[in-house]
Amino acid sequence: MPTYEYQCDGCHKTVEIFQPMTADPVKVCPECGSNKIRRIISGGVGVIFKGSGFYCTDYKGKNASSAGSASK
Ligand SMILES: [Zn+2]
Repeated sequence: MPTYEYQCDGCHKTVEIFQPMTADPVKVCPECGSNKIRRIISGGVGVIFKGSGFYCTDYKGKNASSAGSASK
């Protein structure tokens, strides 16, 4: 799956969003929630492989700290 670059006019950030080609374009900036985000069509290189850091790594079975939560 390719990584798409989006330019947000709300926070002026460039965000890379990993999504399948068939997915709808992102309409809301994940950074600031603005809808002034648009996809940057990068000519030439269609697929950008970036290093790690983008993937959600919260899938690893992280044991929730079940220390005595005695709230009543
Ligand atoms: Zn933004």
